[in-house]
Amino acid sequence: MPPAAGKDPRDTPAMRQHAAFKARHPDALLLFRMGDFYECFDDDALVAHRTLGITLTERTSGLPMAGVPYHSVESYIKRLIDAGVTVAVVDQIQDPSEAKGVVERAVTRVLTPGTLVEDALLDEGRANTLAAIAFLEAGNGSSSRVALAFVEVSTGAFSLSDCAADDAPDELLRRGAQELIYAETATGERPPRLDALAAPLGIALTPRPAWQFRAAESLELLREHYAVVSLAGFGLDEADPALPAAGAVLRYLRETQAMHEEDALDESSRERFRHHIGDRTLAHLAPPARETEAGFMRIDAASIRALEIERTIRGDAPSHGARTEHADGSLAGLFATRQSSCKTAMGRRLLRDWLCRPLADLDAVRARHACVAAFVSDRRLASELAEQLAGVQDVPRIAARVALNRASPRDLVGLGGSLSRAEAITALLDGAPALAAHHARLVSVVDALQPIARDIADRCVDDPPAHLRDGGLIRDGVDAELDEARTLQRDAGEWLARYQGELIERFDLPSLKVGFNKVFGYYIELPSAQARRAPDVFTRKQTLKNAERYITPELKAYEDKVLGAADRAIAREQVLFAELCAAVRARAAEAARYAACVAELDVVRCFAERAVWKGWARPEMVETPVLSLGNLRHAVLEEVLGNECVGNDCALGTAHGSPDHPSLSLITGPNMAGKSTYIRSVALAALLAHAGSFVPADTATIGLTDRLFTRIGADDALHRGQSTFMVEMVETANILHHATNQSLVILDEIGRGTSTLDGLSLAWSIVEQLAGVGVKTESVDHPAPRTLFATHYHELTTLAERHAGRIANLHAEAREFNDQIIFLHRITPGAAPGSFGVQVARLAGVPDPVIARARELLANLSVSHAETERIVDGAPLPAAPSSAIAQLPLFAAPDDHPAVAGLRELKIESMTPLEAFDALRALAESARATSEPRA
Ligand code: ADP
Ligand code: MG
Repeated sequence: MPPAAGKDPRDTPAMRQHAAFKARHPDALLLFRMGDFYECFDDDALVAHRTLGITLTERTSGLPMAGVPYHSVESYIKRLIDAGVTVAVVDQIQDPSEAKGVVERAVTRVLTPGTLVEDALLDEGRANTLAAIAFLEAGNGSSSRVALAFVEVSTGAFSLSDCAADDAPDELLRRGAQELIYAETATGERPPRLDALAAPLGIALTPRPAWQFRAAESLELLREHYAVVSLAGFGLDEADPALPAAGAVLRYLRETQAMHEEDALDESSRERFRHHIGDRTLAHLAPPARETEAGFMRIDAASIRALEIERTIRGDAPSHGARTEHADGSLAGLFATRQSSCKTAMGRRLLRDWLCRPLADLDAVRARHACVAAFVSDRRLASELAEQLAGVQDVPRIAARVALNRASPRDLVGLGGSLSRAEAITALLDGAPALAAHHARLVSVVDALQPIARDIADRCVDDPPAHLRDGGLIRDGVDAELDEARTLQRDAGEWLARYQGELIERFDLPSLKVGFNKVFGYYIELPSAQARRAPDVFTRKQTLKNAERYITPELKAYEDKVLGAADRAIAREQVLFAELCAAVRARAAEAARYAACVAELDVVRCFAERAVWKGWARPEMVETPVLSLGNLRHAVLEEVLGNECVGNDCALGTAHGSPDHPSLSLITGPNMAGKSTYIRSVALAALLAHAGSFVPADTATIGLTDRLFTRIGADDALHRGQSTFMVEMVETANILHHATNQSLVILDEIGRGTSTLDGLSLAWSIVEQLAGVGVKTESVDHPAPRTLFATHYHELTTLAERHAGRIANLHAEAREFNDQIIFLHRITPGAAPGSFGVQVARLAGVPDPVIARARELLANLSVSHAETERIVDGAPLPAAPSSAIAQLPLFAAPDDHPAVAGLRELKIESMTPLEAFDALRALAESARATSEPRA
């Protein structure tokens, strides 16, 4: 009924209720249950209208409203979350028919990007991770550190770490954090240092009151949650700088799971609220596990992107030719193909994690390889395990939903089936030495899980209903009370038929029917034409177009009994379901250990499938920084091209202190010849090996790698948009600062994004530095990481002669044939004979006259090129006469390479080509002057 004119449309009981919840959750969009709809009001309605495209109406004049039907609310919630909107769900916690006045409501769930548990809202192949960050008060600027806590409420995983503030974005991206909580400042703002750090992340940032990050409060909360007097039992130092972040995370989870919502309700509603959400706990959360940086290979987010580990750079389109059946062109995609894929959801998530966080611990890596080898050699074992794993569902996520009291009957039955495999899987591993550790882990949980699995199988039907309210989960014969209620319902058909027969006979009404419908219950129906003849005991209930419906006292009594029985049956099933859930909850820790072990087995088995399918080799992992690969293929290209993929060798690094192979290789060759592919294939092989996989090569010896850097020059990284050269240099600076003798550095066309001379000089100086022959700083020797440097700067190839033993030349072979070029994709020793640019242009369809003119120019420019050769071939040079470089500081600060310092001074834009050449000459000389003493 429209309100009286002038009355505030928000001044109604329901809207006052709405306002109270909104005040409690000001940053969330409220989905307010009204009948069969969830409604949004005011600004929320506008947001919902914009985000979901649903119709905007008015509840009463001046009150915007938009709603979605309750049964499809999840798909709308998903879209809201994806759009970065936090959603608070307000449910009716009282049966509307019992309500006197406005129906009681409560917030039953707050959904944020990092706290999802609902199956429909999650991607089964990806972790849904919430992170908390705390800035540690030590030093300032780039030396500052942060503590991080990561939690997956959907699986119960919980870990702590800390790292340099500069590394935090990489760490967050690598861990796939979808949401980051932080302490807001006293004035309720975002701390400036967070802004700097979070800018490149593109994840949800959620402010929390600063007190929630206080050490004392966090410690108390954690002790209370785990019911311990000290966290020391979990191997945690109670002064651990990451504990405040852990406490903040836990508090946030409780809030988003609406565990504090009853505080907002009055006494009378609380009981109803508790009944409504039931036994909701976070019992499945594992104790926070401390992680250290040691033990893992460090690989930053830019490298993960450049190597297309998780997804291809250009979105989901594969970057190499055609799409194969399943592979998406990323490295992870290789392990989702018909021939090699994980069987379980947790395996798929773990595989992604392993690829993004490879190990840097010799024993741990070797142990994984041994597991893979076991499945490679025992194919029967592999296929039998695969068969078992195919019956294992997403155990950690189901266990989480059980803990939070939102599991469905199908979840429970799926869990039972998954746990029931434990025994068979354990038996399979018995006797495989490489899998002894896994076997022992399974043995330690199998006895705890078997009874639950058996109980679930004994009590629940094999094909359960979607919702408990539908009934039919518990088998007959399990519970006497349930059976009795069911019998009553089942016999209803018979009873009704008999009753109908009696009525027909007694009143001689052959068209009489007895029926049932959900809204009106049981009824007796007569065609309108016979309605006159209805006896007095019939009471009219409903009039239809051609019929009349009646009820009798006898039928009414029966209805009460049957309908009561249906309710009783459902209630009884709920109790039995809750019992089973409680049993699962009591074994949450064992279920988590089982799931973790199964996930690992699944991944190593999947690695083994690929190794067998494509003939990958088990890498020999060694301490010394070498990298030796025979017939190495690019892992993804091999999948796409099959036999057409050309294999190459790689030999980098020095073994046992003696110069075996130079640690740096320069790869030259024409465009499209295979340079980028080659250096990436090396990076991928190293990464795969450290992740525990075999590698796409015939032989492999790989020195343990502490960090992997991959940089793609500006020209090759068009996808990144604008200021690519700056990005490239920032990333290069990072490498020069952080690479060690144990690192692997892959550089592709670095220095390309600027003018030729700038770029060449930079590339030159960077190569020297990475080869360990650059300007020496302080007393420490330069690290010489294993480095592959693909470049089109042909001039760099002379470096190999100057620093033989440190730098080697490789080139991608190409043949000229009838003025065409043929790429062999073969990488062979020595420098490329030329760069074939004009031929490539011709191949690309540049018109003939332009090509002809270019050839002419090339011939002329070769004269100048000879000049360049003189600069770089090490011959004595004439003194630099030009005034353009007179101010070039040859004696720069010791920590700055004079060549680089000189470059900084250059004003290329105001120089003539000749002056530029002179400047380059002086730079080269200064570079040589400082590197000579080391030779
Ligand atoms: P470059 O970096 O030298 O310009 P790329 O490495 O980008 O060349 O290679 C160009 C194309 O050549 C690739 O997209 C791929 O299709 C093909 N290619 C490269 N290496 C191989 C190889 N080893 N085997 C087969 N095809 C290759
Ligand atoms: Mg390239």
